[in-house]
Amino acid sequence: MVATPVEACLALDAGILARGGTFLRGAGAGRLSWKNAFGQEVSSVLWDLEPTAAGAVLLRLRYTVRRWGGFERNQGEEVVEAVRLQTTRPNFGGVRWWFACPLAAAYSPCGRRVSRLYLPPGGRYFGCRTCYGLTYRSVQERRSWHELSRQNPRLALAVLDRRVRRLVRRSSGGRASARHGDR
Ligand SMILES: [Zn+2]
Repeated sequence: MVATPVEACLALDAGILARGGTFLRGAGAGRLSWKNAFGQEVSSVLWDLEPTAAGAVLLRLRYTVRRWGGFERNQGEEVVEAVRLQTTRPNFGGVRWWFACPLAAAYSPCGRRVSRLYLPPGGRYFGCRTCYGLTYRSVQERRSWHELSRQNPRLALAVLDRRVRRLVRRSSGGRASARHGDR
């Protein structure tokens, strides 16, 4: 079995969501969307914030996943997922926001503090890289790109699509990419 590369997943970034003080206010709502290489929207997530009694903030995600196979082939299913937010205070000041991974690992919550959550192709919930056993494309490619494209053409297309997007961005003299490290 070939591991899923993070590039084939939808990714939520706590730093990006927190921009403009969204999380600090502890209230609010919005919509996030993902586009393919042609600028067409492929997925979207509605989110809102809910303060908890303990003074924490819950990020609630609402989205539709596709069900594959059987009679329900290609039908949408509504998913609601609540993610606990955490903060740290870096030495240089300000507040850094994190997600607590909401997935259950071996009958207990994972709870890892991560800057990104991923929804893999065919998945139902956003979760951390460790829970989903995701690999980075560079590692993946070196190992078996041919194997991946043969065994999972859909995934291979998603990876290629992502790469084309990056090339387009680079050739149009786009901004230097500010990639966040993932922990
Ligand atoms: Zn996890």
